[in-house]
Amino acid sequence: MDGFESNEGVIMIAATNRPDVLDPALLRPGRFDRQIVVDWPDVRGREGILRVHTRKIPLSDEVDLKQIARGTPGLAGADLANIVNEAALLAARRNRKKVMQRDFEDAKDKVMLGMERRSLVMTEEERKSTAYHEGGHALVGWLLPGSDPVNKVTIIPRGRALGITSWVPQEERHNRSKEDLERMLCHMMGGRAAELLVFNHLTTGAISDIEQATETARNMVCRYGMSEALGPLTFGKKEEMVFLGKEIATHKDYSEQTAVLIDQEVRRIIETAYNAAMQLLRDNMDKLHLLANTLLEREVLDGDEMDRVLHGEKLEPLRPATEPEPAETAAAAQEPLKGAAGQKLEPFSPPSPRPAGA
Ligand code: ZN
Repeated sequence: MDGFESNEGVIMIAATNRPDVLDPALLRPGRFDRQIVVDWPDVRGREGILRVHTRKIPLSDEVDLKQIARGTPGLAGADLANIVNEAALLAARRNRKKVMQRDFEDAKDKVMLGMERRSLVMTEEERKSTAYHEGGHALVGWLLPGSDPVNKVTIIPRGRALGITSWVPQEERHNRSKEDLERMLCHMMGGRAAELLVFNHLTTGAISDIEQATETARNMVCRYGMSEALGPLTFGKKEEMVFLGKEIATHKDYSEQTAVLIDQEVRRIIETAYNAAMQLLRDNMDKLHLLANTLLEREVLDGDEMDRVLHGEKLEPLRPATEPEPAETAAAAQEPLKGAAGQKLEPFSPPSPRPAGA
């Protein structure tokens, strides 16, 4: 580089989140010729990050940061700091001297799934169709061999969703197989399939499932080369704003004939998943009713509870209702635990590798 002699021992370091627009001249050997990719932290990375952020926070002995790290795939450092901050606030609000595992679990749910909106008034009919919808997602996941285990099913509205089924990947995944994707499509279709089977009507509740499924199927055909009819080719070069994660334009580099084929394949993949979900639920209607009724009664089930219900066990009676989530009260905001102050972060939508079915 101009101005630096090779014997001066100066090392230049630069960072960018748009490596795609760098002038190639900058990247020639002898210039910025080493590239270090800073990726999302893996499970050990997340545990380390949690350790750093909890250093100044009084933790109860039963807090297991490893477990929190395992349950937060896809979150970055700032998100983890946010969870620690929220957990500290919750503990303060609950008049605890130390932060407990439960505070972390609730903070994690709040950050990853959105804030609970217990105030949203749902009609009995809406609750019922939500219970069957989420029950459908979860049951298909439970029945299909090889699925990730369900982490939580809830019909308490969170964020903009009326209910949520969330999954924990058993291990960190960087690569998904065609079978994985087909299973995920089947899970996504489970919600609408259950609604249709039980009520014989359609609602808008499946909107994000359908969007996600269509995108996944299209990617399978156009980007991952997973369609036998079209072979291992990419269709439609995409121009994306890497930084903003938005697609600007797709160049159509295939014929009308191929376009028709792509549409047919996408439709076939989704319909196959939908029919499989339908069949699974139809064969297990008793389980679907059981799960939906348990959800209506308890509102939240974790993976373990769901497993027990579906194996015919009776769950212990509900604990007294958990304390309602108060709005950010002035008192709580002013008196966060030490170390949590000044860490309040922007809300974010998690770039979860495994989006929760809404
Ligand atoms: Zn859904």
